[in-house]
Amino acid sequence: MSETIFGKILSGAIPCHKVYEDERVFAFLDINPLSAGHTLIVPKEPARTLDALSDESAAALGRALPRICRAVIEVTGVKEYNVLENNGAGAHQAVDHVHFHIIPKPSPGEGLGVGWPARALDHKAGAELAAKLRATLG
Ligand code: AMP
Repeated sequence: MSETIFGKILSGAIPCHKVYEDERVFAFLDINPLSAGHTLIVPKEPARTLDALSDESAAALGRALPRICRAVIEVTGVKEYNVLENNGAGAHQAVDHVHFHIIPKPSPGEGLGVGWPARALDHKAGAELAAKLRATLG
């Protein structure tokens, strides 16, 4: 995997506004924030997408994320927020290194705008799909 911009941030080759660091996780402010406090949380492990991440890094991210959310809420004073994680260019991933966005939602016009083209679940197809997923997960 070639080094991404986040790899360069992790190695210190390019600067960032650091927010948090532990053995496996690093967090910094997004350079083009959707709202004040927009923060990125990355594993130090250079996985491209979430499904490629080790259990150890996943656990460390899971532990750090709510803590960083609490800090963002406390510092911005904004209680509502979105957590976003994109996987693949078609799903709006621009940087090929796993990252979670914490995006405060201070007002309807700031923060993340979400398209949600939902349709009612077909329960017969849904039952088959859920069974396949259970079998795959073991
Ligand atoms: P995504 O579309 O989920 O891959 O989001 C990538 C994010 O990385 C965008 O919100 C960018 O603004 C952000 N970004 C890109 N380069 C940098 C950088 N050097 N420092 C901080 N954030 C960055």
